[in-house]
Amino acid sequence: MTSATASAHAPHAPARPRKIWMDGSLVDPADARVSVYDHGLLYGDGCFEGLRGYKGRIFKMDSHLRRMEESAERIRLKLPYSRADLARAMKDTMAACAMDDCYIRLVATRGAGTLGLNPFTCPRPCVFIVVDTIQLYPHELYRSGMKVIVAKRPRIPMQCLDPAIKSLNYLNNILAKIEAIDAKVLEAIMLNVDGEVSECTGDNIFAIKGGRIHTPPTSAGILHGITRQFVIDALAPALGIPVEERRMVLDDLYGADEVFLTGTAAEIIGVSAIGERAIGAGRMGPLTERLEAEFRRRILAGAPED
Ligand code: PMP
Repeated sequence: MTSATASAHAPHAPARPRKIWMDGSLVDPADARVSVYDHGLLYGDGCFEGLRGYKGRIFKMDSHLRRMEESAERIRLKLPYSRADLARAMKDTMAACAMDDCYIRLVATRGAGTLGLNPFTCPRPCVFIVVDTIQLYPHELYRSGMKVIVAKRPRIPMQCLDPAIKSLNYLNNILAKIEAIDAKVLEAIMLNVDGEVSECTGDNIFAIKGGRIHTPPTSAGILHGITRQFVIDALAPALGIPVEERRMVLDDLYGADEVFLTGTAAEIIGVSAIGERAIGAGRMGPLTERLEAEFRRRILAGAPED
């Protein structure tokens, strides 16, 4: 890779050897090519995962690979690799890039076919893995909390395209993200078509009230977030904080003591205000801070890969 290519790919990062895993081979970024006939590109037909490497371990790798398989099954895309193959491929890519702490993007497109929607004209999916760094939100927001808005555009209904499928078609989220950017904030809360809180454009959402955590159920039409599940199954129980999955409306957020978001890239971040309305004390709340500290403690002790 020339330095010009390196800077074109990662203008913010120092040049380092970078390899892309592309259907079984580790190749230079310039040689990692996808066909213009690929239905992933033509129609957003495919699925993906965003994972996180911490000190060479991949946080909740098995859960991510299970979700990838579920997404693929639900769009009738047959993955040409087993979970063990993909796990090894991600570790090999991290090693080839010499990156122990990283963001990992695992993508399966429908593959190249004819022009036209029929996915079964595409004989073989295209699977690739990109390892890079990610800084989704500025560091200081992890202390001050983040301001968000409520998007006017609702989350796509489950009956149309279940948000539990992590498909390559993120336009619903992207259009809501543009609303956030227009409002000069970094994230937007999305309601479902019934007016209930679902999730954010790239994060799940939680509220804390009277020492209890609430989060919308999967039936609200959300991505079944891996970090969300880690909060429910591991972090909150470890701190003795009860969690309830229940349908929520905006007033539940406005009246909460604390609101926080979770995601692989975001980890755990507090919400200081929703639109013009401050949440709690208008900064990252004390229970959110404890959850974040417990998350960090477990990552430092060796990120769980199960
Ligand atoms: N919701 C959406 C729409 C997402 O894209 C993501 C992932 N960025 C999340 C929630 C968080 O899920 P996870 O904790 O599995 O990253």
